[in-house]
Amino acid sequence: MGVKKPFESSKRVVIKIGSSLLVDPEQGSVHRKWLEALADDIAQCRANGQQVVIVSSGAIAVGRRHLGLRDGKLKLEESQAAAATGMIRLAHAYQDVLAHHNLTVAQVLVTLDDSESRRRYLNARNTLETLLRLGAVPLINENDTVATDEIRFGDNDRLAARVSAMISADTLVLLSNIDGLYDRDPRYETDAKLVPEVRGAISQYVQDMAGSSISCDGSGGMVTKFEAARIAMGAGARMVITNGLHSHPLRRLTKGSACTWFLPDANPRTARKRWIAGVLKPAGEIIVDEGAVNALKSGKSILPAGVLDIIGQFDRGDAVIVRARDGLEVGRGIIAYSSDDAQRIKGNKTSEIEALLGYRGRDEIVHRDDFALE
Ligand code: GLU
Repeated sequence: MGVKKPFESSKRVVIKIGSSLLVDPEQGSVHRKWLEALADDIAQCRANGQQVVIVSSGAIAVGRRHLGLRDGKLKLEESQAAAATGMIRLAHAYQDVLAHHNLTVAQVLVTLDDSESRRRYLNARNTLETLLRLGAVPLINENDTVATDEIRFGDNDRLAARVSAMISADTLVLLSNIDGLYDRDPRYETDAKLVPEVRGAISQYVQDMAGSSISCDGSGGMVTKFEAARIAMGAGARMVITNGLHSHPLRRLTKGSACTWFLPDANPRTARKRWIAGVLKPAGEIIVDEGAVNALKSGKSILPAGVLDIIGQFDRGDAVIVRARDGLEVGRGIIAYSSDDAQRIKGNKTSEIEALLGYRGRDEIVHRDDFALE
């Protein structure tokens, strides 16, 4: 394999857990033993210095039984009611098992909007960064209770991929009820072979190979897994599909269990910089002084004090071109203030932001992680 120990060498890992692994569909109860074993694995990752984010399904599966809803497809409002009931139980279960390892769980419910609207994207990203820095294990699910059809992800494979991209995770693990990607449909073809590795972009060939009909747990199938791989790899994250039906699925992964790795050609940092520099359309410009130019060149953030001028109308979370006094482009970045607020704080000390704006915003006007040098 190209990357040596792709799981063990990951610093920030997102683990997606499907309903069918976690929930007994008849009883609507959580598979406690399985979850305890997973918590052991997560604690081991943490002991190895890895940050872990969980994206878990199962809220609807747990909640529908408690509300006595019938089998079969639910109406949207019934799923929403079920999610409200089930999520609290799910979160409790995670909290219980991780507390045994002195790990704190932080529940974060997101909608598609949070990953598409840049302002909310920045917020969600900052909250998750802060939770990770403080040592918590974020537990993420879609906010099914308020998400209407148009603003739903609908499946947690894609949600987990978006989360991976949002927080520049280096690895996304999809715990599934299948070992990985096969060259033919393993349900019908006994000699179907597992594909251990897919490199670079996902070609039509690879997609055809799997067939769109291979169904996996919950609402996802191979199709949503490909979509997830495309999003994750576009953000420079590796993705692995492995079988979560066994106990200790992460430990098994480190021991070489069957799986399929999707390996991108860039790392999250490079991919994010590429996205900022090449994909985002700048909405305005900021002119900075020599001190700020030097700071940027040595990998630091831009503080309000270094900003001389603001050009154009933009919102918090928009992309801006950063120019030196002589008009030369220094780079591009995502700005943490709207143009109106940036006007008010430019040239001032960070400690004065609150008095000037009436709220305590971020210290940096463009954070170094949100900046790509020209
Ligand atoms: N958000 C849904 C739930 O927690 C699951 C979506 C999925 O299975 O992908 O029940």
